[in-house]
Parts: sequence; C-alpha cells; structure tokens
Amino acid sequence: MNFYVVSDKWTPNVWPENEISTYLKDYDRDINDPLFPNFDDHHEPFCPVCHHCLRTYPLPPLRREIHLAKPYFGDIIVGGTGLYFSEHAMNLYKDAGLTGIEAFRKIEILKVVTHNGVRKGKLPPCPSYYWCDLVVDGAKMDYKKSKAVFCPPVSPLCGFCMIPLNHDAGTIDKYTGVYLEESTWNKNNIFLPLGIWSKVMADQVFKNWYDENNLTGIELRPSSSVNENYGFYENEVEEYGQEGLRYDLD
Ligand SMILES: [Zn+2]
Repeated sequence: MNFYVVSDKWTPNVWPENEISTYLKDYDRDINDPLFPNFDDHHEPFCPVCHHCLRTYPLPPLRREIHLAKPYFGDIIVGGTGLYFSEHAMNLYKDAGLTGIEAFRKIEILKVVTHNGVRKGKLPPCPSYYWCDLVVDGAKMDYKKSKAVFCPPVSPLCGFCMIPLNHDAGTIDKYTGVYLEESTWNKNNIFLPLGIWSKVMADQVFKNWYDENNLTGIELRPSSSVNENYGFYENEVEEYGQEGLRYDLD
C-alpha cells in the first residue's frame, strides 16, 4: 500500500498557500479567560498501555484566522496536526464513505490575512471550515526502515504508542522516509500514525478521492520521500563529543 503525508503547499517565499491558525488576538488574553486558545493535553484517546494522551484536543471556542498567499480558499488545509475541511470537502468525504475523521467541528474564521500581494477584494467568499478530529489508527512508524535516529539520551519506548517512557529522553532527530509497519495499520483512509508527532497520513484511496474531485489546498507527498534532519544529532556530537545513538529495535 502506498501512503502519503498530508502537507501544506508552499509558495517560493516564507508563506504556505493557505494556512489556518489560532486567532492571534486571543493570545493576548489572560490564560483564565474562556476565550484564551487552550489545548487539552489530557483528553482521550489515551494509550492503553502507558496512558499517555495520543492526540491533543483544542477546546472551544474554535476561533481562527486564515492566511492566504495565493488567491483561493483551499478545500483542505493542514498545519502540524491541525486538519481543516471546507464544507464542500466534508460533504464529498461523507458521500465517499471514507474513514479516519471521527468528528467535524465547525470553526469561526474571524480574520482573513493575505500575503504576497493577494488582493482581498478579488477573493471569493470565505467558505465554512471544520476542524477534523483524526483517528489514532494504531499504525506505527517503522523506525528501522525509516532509518530513524534519536538524540541522546535514548529511552525505552512504550510498546504500543512508541512514546519514550523516560520523559527527559531525546526526540527523533532524523529519518529517511516515513515508512509504516503495515501490519499495524487498521485501514483508515486518513489518520495520525504512532511513533511520529505532527504528521497526518493518508492512503491511496484518499489520494484518489482527492484527485478525482479536483480538490485544492494540500499536497499528498509519497511517504517514502518525506525526510527530516533537525540537526540535533550533530549538535549533540559537538557538545558532548559522543556519537548520537541509533535506535535498534532488536
Ligand atoms: Zn503508550
């Protein structure tokens, strides 16, 4: 099975074509203000083994602003683990019987911000958007196949969710391709994988649906082509004069 990483689309400068972020002015509020943009980090689903929270949950009200660096409103917009569908995309998704989105929660768009000379007066009306609660499918990243390297100190991992049991452990530093252990995949069409944060993944059925409906806003990158090298590993070597540790699951 081919898998894809759901990615935002970038213009040649610093802006993605479409981005939805928390309404900036809400950050100026007191943390006890009900409008302060809090996320609940102790919300279900939890890992059945180590009880770690597997998905952060944004608390309502879901007040957002949208940034456009190209003159269109995308049908699907992603940023980190935040995934948003327009009403059009949501209806097509439901009609197609795809799986992986447990709930659609309507957001309020309080502000449209444009970049790269995009003229607000020429934009179509802003569609309604929905935050997607994505399933944690159970699919695990295959660290060996992905050639994952972690910053020291390296900790044993939870056998189910792969979160380090020592919370002071180093984070994943680099990998070559986001490969999954296919036997752990529960066949959701779009999902959050275990073993890597901030990635939304999709299968070939989702990719075909996206292409056939001429949807816009995201790029579905073949997961084998997605690499990361944060460079912490090199810094550790420089700082401590020791080699970083490669995870060996044997
Ligand atoms: Zn766990």
